[in-house]
Amino acid sequence: KESLSFMKKRIRHLAQQWLRAARRLEQKLKGRQRDQKHILIHIGFLTEESGDVFSPRVLKGGPLGEMVQWADILAALFLLGHSLRVTVSLKELQSHLGVPPGRGNCPLTNPLPFDLIYTDYHGLQQMKQHMGLSFKKYRCRVRVIDTFGTEPAYNHEEYATLRGYRTNWGYWNLQPTQFMTMFPHTPDNSFMGFVSEELNKTERQFIKSNKVSSMAVVYGKEASIWKVGGKEKFLAILNKYMEIHGTVYYETQRPPEVPAFVKNHGLLPQHEFQQLLRKAKLFIGFGFPYEGPAPLEAIANGCVFLQARFNPPHSSLNHEFFRGKPTSREVSSQHPYAEDFIGKPHVWTVDYNNSEEFEAAIKTIVRTQVDPYLPYEYTCEGMLERIHAYIQHQDFCATSSPPLPPKAKSPAMQSPPSPLALSPNATHLVWSPSASRDPHAWPPVDSLQVWVSETRHACTETCRRRGLVCEPTFFRFLNKKEVFLQLSITCDSTEYEMNHLYPAVAENVHECYLQKEPLLFSCAGYNTKYRRLCPCRDYRKGQVALCRDCL
Ligand code: UDP
Repeated sequence: KESLSFMKKRIRHLAQQWLRAARRLEQKLKGRQRDQKHILIHIGFLTEESGDVFSPRVLKGGPLGEMVQWADILAALFLLGHSLRVTVSLKELQSHLGVPPGRGNCPLTNPLPFDLIYTDYHGLQQMKQHMGLSFKKYRCRVRVIDTFGTEPAYNHEEYATLRGYRTNWGYWNLQPTQFMTMFPHTPDNSFMGFVSEELNKTERQFIKSNKVSSMAVVYGKEASIWKVGGKEKFLAILNKYMEIHGTVYYETQRPPEVPAFVKNHGLLPQHEFQQLLRKAKLFIGFGFPYEGPAPLEAIANGCVFLQARFNPPHSSLNHEFFRGKPTSREVSSQHPYAEDFIGKPHVWTVDYNNSEEFEAAIKTIVRTQVDPYLPYEYTCEGMLERIHAYIQHQDFCATSSPPLPPKAKSPAMQSPPSPLALSPNATHLVWSPSASRDPHAWPPVDSLQVWVSETRHACTETCRRRGLVCEPTFFRFLNKKEVFLQLSITCDSTEYEMNHLYPAVAENVHECYLQKEPLLFSCAGYNTKYRRLCPCRDYRKGQVALCRDCL
């Protein structure tokens, strides 16, 4: 399959880089315990049974992001020393699970021989179909690679059905951190990521002295991206200052959508595409594809990435591409990670309909020198470090479930000394490390700070504004009546209900709400009626998935 050979080439090409990173991580983790896991990797979207729509398009400009990510996951799990089985067909899946051929939908006769299973939504469906009742038993071992993410409100079947959180991907009632995303979209999911090629000192120097300041490359492999409205105007401006290059796939003739003044190289092998980026000064996005790997590669190769701001933001509520995806996330530009986590001088997010703003950006970009930049979390070492931490610490099969809501007035609510210390402004609590805490909790609880959101803000945003990140595993510590008290919030009544925004307070009516269903704890979401209690934590510079003491 073309998809598998693309992945194989990528792994081979990055092998030395992976090896060096693995050695550095080994030094860093010296003496730490590391268990070897038996891991099944079932890439569902590549199976014939799921239709395998991607493989035939690999050489025709179709999406490659998923294959980039799976190749990197394979490399990382292998280098971390785990024992791997990889399947890309239903038959192999059945044989590894121990389902006899011809039999489907029955419980497994032997215990599942894998500690962990990495798969995707297609694979999840196939496993459910072929494991019968065993699926429920073993689903805590599954990790779902899910590009755009799944918010808790869409994951919980009963709640999603009642409240109209529709998705085309099913309702799986998994722990939301079992879903692993391509970018750190929402802390409700785990951030898996991928890697980009790294440069050594000599290469950086070489790139800097060989940049062609008037060369721009357009982001996108398919001719359809050139159909964007208003392109004549902004392309004319761009063409005044820069020579425009493209890597648009074509069969025999130049695609009619691509104007004649564009130098089109056709779809390039990944390695040659990187070489083109090394020469170019600007990588420019036309609005599609969303949130792919290419802008990170461009920035890593010393380009400036210029993209359109989306106003209003695109989401599953207003845009066809996101419709049916299990998230309400509002996408404020083609690549929000580049916008929010990288920003200027590497990333410019401007209004393409405003010719002055667009032209001013181009003029400045042509003049400025920008160094190649790759966030640590997208280096091989960063990815190895993150996956190592997940594998050693995330355990969704442990029986200790979060505390259940107390019935009426339980004595437990009055007795234990408070583990939270009150800060002077009373909308903020910090965890007091001297108080009793769970030594097995991961992330460690002393990184917790509780903030009360404004009514217009989700917890994601509330934490972000304080230089912190929302940590959903900490919700259980603040889902208690006494936390309202410590925050000086007056509650005339307190109810336990199922709502992904709870715990929260409806301030004007003094009604307090606690979460009845732990699967619905969610960093995402807001409603102007409520101020939410938000669990925030610190994070390592360049590695948002991990808190300072998380390794
Ligand atoms: N890419 C490539 N040849 C090209 C242009 C891009 O191999 O001519 C690769 C690029 O290196 C990146 C991958 O395509 O790793 C996917 O990039 P993109 O951001 O376009 O995401 P997609 O929409 O394909 O998922």
